Amino acid sequence: MKIAEVRVYRHSITVADGRYQMSLSEVDALDCTVVEVVTDTGLVGYGETTPLGPTYQEQHAAGARAAIATMAPALIGLDPRRTNLVYERMDHALNGHRYAKSALDVACWDLIGKSYGERVCDLLGGAERSSVPSYFGVMPGTTAETADAAQRREQEGYPRIQVKAGGRALADDIEAVRAVAEALSPTTKLLVDPNRGWTTRDTMEFSVACRDIALTIEQPCRTFDEHRRIADKIHHPLFLDESTVDIPTIVRAVTGGVAQGFGMKLSRVGGLTPLRVVRDLCVELGVPLTIDDTWGGDITAAATVHMGATVPDAFYEGTWISEPYQKPAYSCLTSPIRHVGGHIPLPEGVGLGVEPDLPTWADPVATYR
Ligand SMILES: [Mg+2]
Repeated sequence: MKIAEVRVYRHSITVADGRYQMSLSEVDALDCTVVEVVTDTGLVGYGETTPLGPTYQEQHAAGARAAIATMAPALIGLDPRRTNLVYERMDHALNGHRYAKSALDVACWDLIGKSYGERVCDLLGGAERSSVPSYFGVMPGTTAETADAAQRREQEGYPRIQVKAGGRALADDIEAVRAVAEALSPTTKLLVDPNRGWTTRDTMEFSVACRDIALTIEQPCRTFDEHRRIADKIHHPLFLDESTVDIPTIVRAVTGGVAQGFGMKLSRVGGLTPLRVVRDLCVELGVPLTIDDTWGGDITAAATVHMGATVPDAFYEGTWISEPYQKPAYSCLTSPIRHVGGHIPLPEGVGLGVEPDLPTWADPVATYR
């Protein structure tokens, strides 16, 4: 089986309630790139990359398509089942830009599954569950609104609640988090995620003020180094998300005592091939992780759910998908990937288990052959 053609599609994703707010930015629409990798056997595989706006992390939507234009010609003629060789060729064609490589890499895994008649999760080590636990990110609001929203999601069945923080007075965050903690059952995991919006001092003050609450703080500050400076000065476990750009950083974060876990994004590390290494590394090092991506449609959601299904219970913090926050990204022939009681059932079918309804899509914006 050889790659004969790469087609690139562009979609616009609309945020369902008008905006998705984080401490340093908010988005109301997202620019989504889907790749269709066509082989000489007639089998096709799909991958996707959708940056969460231009400032969440070092990803650029138009840059993804420019990066694919540089890399795709180098992949023509390769066997997509040889994912390490595909990756080597992508790295040889273009330094960095893992979020663009992620789309091509995921499409290759979809093709491997389709060619062997297996689900992607079974190729990645085997599914430990048929439905993966998810978690919900509650937007900042008044204290009462935040506590109500968190409790509602807990009642829907979400085993983990993340409260977005930052971008306002620290006292407001502290008050909201205390109210959420009071509203939730002690068995529900609680995270506070300022998305880089706190200073090191904010983080230390917050941790003192909420010392009596069992919670985890995720990526409060902008850089790896800021977290390194406060890791032994706070009272809560620290997860890194935006800063974990590659495998050496993950090793440094764990062995240096900076992070006790990770919010992990498929496109940030560059697709399922590197994410498989990240998963195994985290298990070996004994640290938990989520398996998420920035945003996207069913292709991205399927890739994260397949990988999430393979993470051992003791290390799995769940999978976040953007489905509850957005209107459908694009139409598919297969059942949409949706939350059911705070969990996400694995898609059925081989490969990713997602088949785009291509006749309803606009023509490709680029084709490489
Ligand atoms: Mg996060």
